[in-house]
Amino acid sequence: MEFVIFMVLLYFLPTIVAIVLLEDALGVFLVNFFLGWTVIGWWVAMIWAVAERKTLQVHRVPVSSGRFCSRCGTLAPPGAQVCPNCGRAV
Ligand SMILES: [Zn+2]
Repeated sequence: MEFVIFMVLLYFLPTIVAIVLLEDALGVFLVNFFLGWTVIGWWVAMIWAVAERKTLQVHRVPVSSGRFCSRCGTLAPPGAQVCPNCGRAV
């Protein structure tokens, strides 16, 4: 029985990796489910799950818009000497 559970987990390993690493794992699951038995489909799903990266949200802030507090990360307005959130000197 343990062998069957192990083989099922091994078969769906690309889907498990995609759930952990990706925001949307549906495509990997579909390829894994329908084509995983071909071995090539399993590797396609695994490479897709490992190679695809989550998109990072980068907020660009003009240099002159103030300083970030090193304690809480709040953006202090330009010319401020202390953080408006926690009061630490910026
Ligand atoms: Zn602060």
